[in-house]
Amino acid sequence: MKNTFRTLSALVFCLILAGTTALAKPDKVDGINVPSGRIPQEIKNNNYPHTYFPGTERVGKDEMRIVALGTGMPTQTPSNAAASFLVELGNGESFLFDVGTGSTERLAGLEADYSTLDKVFISHLHTDHAGDLAALWVSGWIGGRYTPLQVYGPSGSAPELGTKVHVDHIRAAWAWDVTSRAGTLPNAGGEIVAHEFDFSKTAVIYNENGVKVTAFPAIHIRDGAVSYRLDWNGLSFVFGGDSVPNKWFLKEAQGADVIVHECFFTPEQWMDIAGFPYKQAYWVTTLIHTPPQGFGKLMSMMKPRLAVAYHYWNHRDIEFAIYDGVRETYDGPLVMAADLTVINVTKDHIESREVSVNHEAWAQGTSREWDTATRGDPATGLMADWLIEGKLEGINPAPTQPID
Ligand SMILES: [Zn+2]
Ligand SMILES: [Zn+2]
Repeated sequence: MKNTFRTLSALVFCLILAGTTALAKPDKVDGINVPSGRIPQEIKNNNYPHTYFPGTERVGKDEMRIVALGTGMPTQTPSNAAASFLVELGNGESFLFDVGTGSTERLAGLEADYSTLDKVFISHLHTDHAGDLAALWVSGWIGGRYTPLQVYGPSGSAPELGTKVHVDHIRAAWAWDVTSRAGTLPNAGGEIVAHEFDFSKTAVIYNENGVKVTAFPAIHIRDGAVSYRLDWNGLSFVFGGDSVPNKWFLKEAQGADVIVHECFFTPEQWMDIAGFPYKQAYWVTTLIHTPPQGFGKLMSMMKPRLAVAYHYWNHRDIEFAIYDGVRETYDGPLVMAADLTVINVTKDHIESREVSVNHEAWAQGTSREWDTATRGDPATGLMADWLIEGKLEGINPAPTQPID
């Protein structure tokens, strides 16, 4: 008995030693990787801290946590990346809605578990909604994803305008990148898979593990824009993408807990900001987008538990006027989302706060599952002999450990 105790003690000691000497791997908490040494706390009695520090709070088993990763425009500003919302569920799953240009920088600030960030739903193929797809694909792969990135998105009026061709071209455009990394990274994580669906039909396009995502048509410049609704465990989240108010949205978003919808500028604001004449400004703001008064009127018809406005620059000299515009037509619960606004949703409570990001934050690191995932042979033969022969010998240090 004593010997057994000693053996066990030695084993535990070795494990502790191994844990401290090895490169710090994330810890698994409720099936999710969290940065090593950090223990996310359960939130009790809706007693949320005023500030959300990434990785410090567990998503409750009946809770949905929504983070606005990007809330701005095609031209980013330091405070507004382009459109992207992250939805994390109490079952451990994560869903990205759009991944607009610059939004992956915000994702990195969350010290996220890339192994769970393997599903992205694209509302339409504007860069401010899909421009960081390649960045998510490759940075997520290096950062811990060891399964393919699954991209759900609409068809267009012709095959070349749909999500499948878009993803095929991303794969082709980044062949230099992906083939150069093959072998050192898990094979499956280097794959990107398109799930294209008919943009013109309201349909459940994802239904797994109790999570249902429904897509329905949106009206935005040309055929091939959609909005989404996610239902899970009695909670629902709607992501409008870009659209003018439309009958599909009114029907499908009905009764949702949280409705995210674009809230653009007024024609007068856009004339001032962009220097457009009135006719073009009206077209952009009101015929292909939804200005503040339209957003407000739509939310007055929908009456969600929380309306979330985004898709404008939240500069101080304009955001109050946008807010005032919404309040002309809507007096219900409202969040004017900024990048890194976080919204926690349960059946009896909604909390809206801001994320505090450490700008020196490390990626949380890859997991043991990532380490042991199947890899091919390291890439060889990718450089010509004359190029290799140009290397200066003895400049970079020789290895200090075996490398064969
Ligand atoms: Zn758009
Ligand atoms: Zn947009």
